[in-house]
Amino acid sequence: MSAQVRIIGAGLAGSEAAWQCAQRGVDVELFEMRPVRSTPAHQTADFAELVCSNSLKSDSENTAPWLLKEEMRRAGSLLLQIARECAVPAGHALAVDRVTFSAKVTQAISREPRITVRREEVTSINESSQQITVIATGPLTSEALAAEIARLSKGVHDAAPRNPHLYFYDSISPIVEADSIDMSRVYMAARYDKGSADYINCPMTPEDYGRFYDALLAAQSVEERDWEKLNYFESCLPIEEIARRGRDTLRFGPMKPVGLKDPRTGRMPYAVVQLRQENLRADSYNLVGFQNHLKFGEQARVLRMIPGLENARFLRYGQIHRNTYINGPALLRETLQMKAHSGVLFAGQICGVEGYVESIATGLMAGQHAAALALGIELAPPPRASAFGSLTHYVTQADAKNFQPANITFDLLPALEKKIRDRKERHRLQCELALKHFDEWLEGTAATAAKG
Ligand SMILES: Cc1cc2nc3c(=O)[nH]c(=O)nc-3n(C[C@H](O)[C@H](O)[C@H](O)COP(=O)(O)OP(=O)(O)OC[C@H]3O[C@@H](n4cnc5c(N)ncnc54)[C@H](O)[C@@H]3O)c2cc1C
Repeated sequence: MSAQVRIIGAGLAGSEAAWQCAQRGVDVELFEMRPVRSTPAHQTADFAELVCSNSLKSDSENTAPWLLKEEMRRAGSLLLQIARECAVPAGHALAVDRVTFSAKVTQAISREPRITVRREEVTSINESSQQITVIATGPLTSEALAAEIARLSKGVHDAAPRNPHLYFYDSISPIVEADSIDMSRVYMAARYDKGSADYINCPMTPEDYGRFYDALLAAQSVEERDWEKLNYFESCLPIEEIARRGRDTLRFGPMKPVGLKDPRTGRMPYAVVQLRQENLRADSYNLVGFQNHLKFGEQARVLRMIPGLENARFLRYGQIHRNTYINGPALLRETLQMKAHSGVLFAGQICGVEGYVESIATGLMAGQHAAALALGIELAPPPRASAFGSLTHYVTQADAKNFQPANITFDLLPALEKKIRDRKERHRLQCELALKHFDEWLEGTAATAAKG
């Protein structure tokens, strides 16, 4: 029997989408180009590789990332379940051992009899056939497929000045070996003592900060002459770019010391660099928010000026990479199908969400919708009040002219009818309402599927 759904890309979104289809009795052909062809950021051939940080964001109840994960849990997300099995200590966040995580996802997908894995690069999409296709090739979609997607969306991107070529630039932070950190110079703490004290904090005096700042500004970037032309994503700016905006901008950004009192002095340092555990063995740590575009030798020199990192050994340096995404509001319906080609769906970062969890969540939705299409069941987009619905609402209804990927935040959720001044109470009520609507939607889709 031929496959009913083709899924391109076995990253976070594609793996979840394939699993969701298979659970609904739909056969899947899952295409992954690695290891035949890799991307500038992936290092393995495993599915659902986490290419930068290992954090799946806050797990504190009634935060927006928690709400999204709670909906994913209720909807039966495979990847979230595996993430919980591979969790490492990270205060109030859900962080995972990235190697175990992708190994377990690869194992689960490879063992699923309804999923056939093909290790090859897909370069063309047949939009006119009855074939249902989910494109989940992520921010590092291969050039040939990006050109094919541009063909499918002909005319649309020319009308969107922020995103005329389907991509812009983003960056990743460095990782150091744990036993190369001088623990006598750092301290463990979580900001505002929220959750357990799992972060290593490198404190800086005004003099340390001044020296570091000057060295950072003087350091050489990769492709120095071209860098100013790069179009960065505002919430993931390289540190040298943040530093260029003013002497104190780093102290109010990735190096902010608030809520991080040094227990040895009882005082808040002038600036702090935070390191987060990478894996369960705790043998590597990443420099939180320290994505950058410096030459590797320059990174080693400048980052070793951070107290505690004088002899740091780097497992990975910060890098810059392309970020490919379509103009969702111009191209997609709330079911993540293309308006012009209803058999083609998009999921993950490429559809216009930002982040690991958001990518998995849209993969889950696209998988459900693709399976419903294959089974001839009516498609029902998730309710607007839910985190799922708010993400798809953003991706499909935001301003097409200035569209850029977004993380889940309360800004994306609809405002409550009644004004609540207290922020915590407002968020609690928004989450309660979201989950109520979400559960009703889940029940409705289950009933429709049973009838179909
Ligand atoms: C360098 C970098 C750092 C990031 N850091 C973070 C972070 O720290 N935290 C965070 O929340 N988010 C981060 N993101 C954003 C985003 O959450 C991740 O990229 C996430 O992996 C996106 O999931 P995805 O499923 O959309 O894409 P991916 O997980 O990248 O999966 C796409 C898959 O498609 C495959 N593929 C590509 N083209 C083809 C083709 N033509 N044929 C077949 N297969 C193909 C790729 O090999 C890949 O396996 C980062 C992104 C990048 C690029």
